[in-house]
Amino acid sequence: MSETAVFQPLMNTYKRIPLTITRGRGSYVWDETGRKYLDLTSGIGTCSLGHVPDRVKTAVASQLEELWHCSNLFHIPAQEKLASLLAENSFGDQVFFCNSGAEANEAAVKLARKHAREVKGAGATEIVTFTRSFHGRTMGAMTATGQDHVKEGFSPLPEGFSHIPFNCSESLKGIDVEKTAAVLLEPVQGEGGVIPSDPAWIRELEEFCRKHNILLMTDEVQTGVGRTGSLFAYEQYGITPDVMTLAKGLGSGFPIGAVVAGSKAAASFGPGTHGTTFGGNPLACTAGIATIEEMIEKGIPEKAMACGNRVKEKLNRLAEELTEVTEVRGKGLLLGLELEVEAADIVTEARENGLLVLTAGKNVLRLLPPLTISPEEADRAVSVLEDIFRRREATAV
Ligand SMILES: *Cc1c(COP(=O)(O)O)cnc(C)c1O
Repeated sequence: MSETAVFQPLMNTYKRIPLTITRGRGSYVWDETGRKYLDLTSGIGTCSLGHVPDRVKTAVASQLEELWHCSNLFHIPAQEKLASLLAENSFGDQVFFCNSGAEANEAAVKLARKHAREVKGAGATEIVTFTRSFHGRTMGAMTATGQDHVKEGFSPLPEGFSHIPFNCSESLKGIDVEKTAAVLLEPVQGEGGVIPSDPAWIRELEEFCRKHNILLMTDEVQTGVGRTGSLFAYEQYGITPDVMTLAKGLGSGFPIGAVVAGSKAAASFGPGTHGTTFGGNPLACTAGIATIEEMIEKGIPEKAMACGNRVKEKLNRLAEELTEVTEVRGKGLLLGLELEVEAADIVTEARENGLLVLTAGKNVLRLLPPLTISPEEADRAVSVLEDIFRRREATAV
C-alpha cells in the first residue's frame, strides 16, 4: 500500500509504516516482495526468542491439537505450571493471567486499592506514577501514564492517580503517605524514552514504600522476561517489589499478560474480585511456559546482557564522534539513542537499508532486538546505523 493510503475498514489508530511483513525467522523478517530485513523491533519487544522459535512453535502446535480454551471456571494445568515457573523465578508467590500489558496494570491497580483498604483504610486509594511513564491505553492504565498527550480528548479520567518526577528524591516528599495505596514504575522507562531508574533512587523509593506501607509495583511489561539482561529488571536493582506486571515478551508474540505478587498483596484478591474470559488460556500459557523454559535453560538473559553491553559500547564510541547522537541509554537489549534530530527520519532511512528500528518519543531511537540476536547480526545493525549517521553528517550543510 502507498504511504498515504488508509485501509478504510480499519480504524485509523496507527500511522502505519509502508511495509507489509509476511514472514519471520530468528532475527529477520521478509516483506511481501521477498525483501529481507534485520528486525530490531521484534514486535515491540514481544518476539524475544526471535521470530517463530522452534520450542514455542512445537509446544503451541501440540496444545492446538488438545484444547484451545475452556475458561477460568476450570483448572488449567498450563496456567498452573506457568504460574509456578514465574513464582519460582521471581519474588512472587501468586500470579493472575490476562491478555495484555494494559490489562495487567489494571489488575495491579485493583489489587493495590483492595489491599490498601484492608491494611490502611478506605482513604488509601491513590496510585502514584512517574512523568514520562507508559502503562497502557485502557482508561486506568492511560490515566496512570505520565504523558499528557495520550489522554487528550478522553476525560473524565478515573480519579486517584498522580504523577511525580522520575529519578528525583525530592519528589518523594510530595507523596501523601496516608492516601497512597501503591507506587507503580517501570524499572527502565520504555516508551517514554528508554530511561533507566537511578539505582540509589529506586532503593530509596523501596525504603520509602516499606516505611509507609505503600505497595511497590513494577511495570515490567517491557523490561521483563530477559529484556534488560536478567529475567526481570528489578533483580539488577536489588529491590523486591510487592507486585510486578508482565506481558510483551512473555508469550513470544502470543498475547498474554500477568500480575505477579507476593503472598501478602495477592491475598487481597478472592473469588469474584477480578476475572477474565480469555486470560490464562491453555494456548497462551503453553507459549509462556516454552518461552520461560527456553530463556532459563539457554541463559538467554545473560546473553542479552553481554550483547547489549557490546552494542552499547560501540554506540557510545559512535556517539562521541557523531553530532546527531547525544546519548546512549538502556539496559541489556532495551537500548535508546537520544538524537538531535527526529528519530522517525532515522527509522525510515534504516528501513530503506534493510534494518527495522523503533522510536521512543520524538528524539529517541529505540532498539528492541530479539534477545537471541547473534553478535554478528548486532554488529551489522550498528554498522547500518553508523553508515546512516555518517552519510547524514557528510551531506549536512
Ligand atoms: C507496552 C507497555 C504497556 C502496555 O501493554 P499492552 O499489551 O499494549 O496493553 C504497559 N506498560 C509498559 C511498560 C509497556 O511497555
